[in-house]
Amino acid sequence: MKTVKIGTTYKLVPKKLYLYNSIKASIEQLASRPGFFQSCESWCELSSGDLNFRTDVYDGRLWRDWKDFVHIPGNLLLMLNIDWFRPYKHTAYSVGVLYVVVQNLPRTLRFKPENIIIVGTIPGPHEPKLTINTFLKPMIDELIELWKGTQIKAPNSTLGVRSVRVALACISSDIPATRKICGFYGFKARHGCSKCMKAFPTSVFSEATDYGGFDREMWPLRDMKTHYENALLAKNAVTKTARTAIESKVGLRYSELLRLPYFNIVRCHMIDPMHNLFLGTAKHVTTLWKGSGIMCESDFIKIQEKIDSVLVPARIGRLPGKIASAFSGFTAEQWMLWVIVEQWMLWVIVEQWMLWVIVEQWMLWVILEQWMLWVTVYSPFVLKNILPSEHYDMWCVFSRSCSLFCRPFINNEEIVKADELIIQFCKMFEDIFGRHAVTPNMHLHAHLRECIQDLGPVFSFWCFSFERYNGILESFQKNWHAPEVQLWKSLF
Ligand SMILES: [Zn+2]
Repeated sequence: MKTVKIGTTYKLVPKKLYLYNSIKASIEQLASRPGFFQSCESWCELSSGDLNFRTDVYDGRLWRDWKDFVHIPGNLLLMLNIDWFRPYKHTAYSVGVLYVVVQNLPRTLRFKPENIIIVGTIPGPHEPKLTINTFLKPMIDELIELWKGTQIKAPNSTLGVRSVRVALACISSDIPATRKICGFYGFKARHGCSKCMKAFPTSVFSEATDYGGFDREMWPLRDMKTHYENALLAKNAVTKTARTAIESKVGLRYSELLRLPYFNIVRCHMIDPMHNLFLGTAKHVTTLWKGSGIMCESDFIKIQEKIDSVLVPARIGRLPGKIASAFSGFTAEQWMLWVIVEQWMLWVIVEQWMLWVIVEQWMLWVILEQWMLWVTVYSPFVLKNILPSEHYDMWCVFSRSCSLFCRPFINNEEIVKADELIIQFCKMFEDIFGRHAVTPNMHLHAHLRECIQDLGPVFSFWCFSFERYNGILESFQKNWHAPEVQLWKSLF
């Protein structure tokens, strides 16, 4: 609190405002639209029903573990994302947003802005450093009530009300946000991975931390029972000093999420492929190539010329257009296109384009000629004569792995193959650049397999939609006073 003089008197007012939007009220709002609950129940028809073939979140292991819950109409599973955006272009002011999506909705509807629930905005100017428990608490309180079941207003149902039960199924955010939500330590900790207990030797003499080594069978996985016990130990410490000592020893902090009786923090936090593969590794490798002179100015111009010469179908997505400026300012989407698009096209032509074009609804606009044009003109080998062979081979392995991981539908064999390739890439990278160039993102590549097995294709949980929503929020009209409050007023 801070003291403010109002007239001749002084009053205590909050230093910052945390604005919270009820999940229940938001679901009521969604339910006021005709067809909302029918859409939520359409997953039964949309699911492949095949244990080997994943078309969406409904075919993942997690959904199947919830099968008794989700088969009851009105029961909803949610996914949480938290991200920060900068409302002002030239200042470091950051506002956090808690987003929730209803996983029961079909993928074509789930991530539409009108179906994304904004639960709260974390006030700036700085991101909270360690945890965000203060901001999670109201949401967890409400989720505990919603888990018990409640009635909501539903004007489109016969009775005008509807029974619902709601549970949080998973979290998908970037790595720093996930750590703050779940209470994991950052990657600088000795046990800095949130999925396993591999020890990362701490740096000596200012050397970078060693994240190398991909002998995954040697990594003990974290388990929820131990996590819960250690987190409670930290929470119940008598003094702040004692708590910090315990947290440091066990490598984690208490999270409000632990109050949800059903939620497995260790399993249900996802590694977002968008940040992990594209903004993480693709960018890192390119930066190393630039920094070590493997790619120089003239190479970027050559690549740009090749790409500029391609006539691109307008709706196929934005092509990398900033290569001549040495990839500066690439967005996640551009990284994705750069890394995998040519592999996608080859896959469509060579393997099963019919299945892709017929079944994948959001790709229906693509006609065969466009695929052909894309594949034949935009060469999948644009880097071939530019990179040294060992770098080129490494990149191709990465690209093939990304293209498999990012398929709109994925079967078990493809997950296994993508995983093999990404581990192969990590080992090749380590051989070429050395252990100290390996990044935490590369270690996390080894855990992507489990996330896709649990949640299905990356499209069902990656963060592109939230990033786009952040872009919308960045552009709202505001002055220089409390932008989060102004944002709230413009939203509600
Ligand atoms: Zn790990």
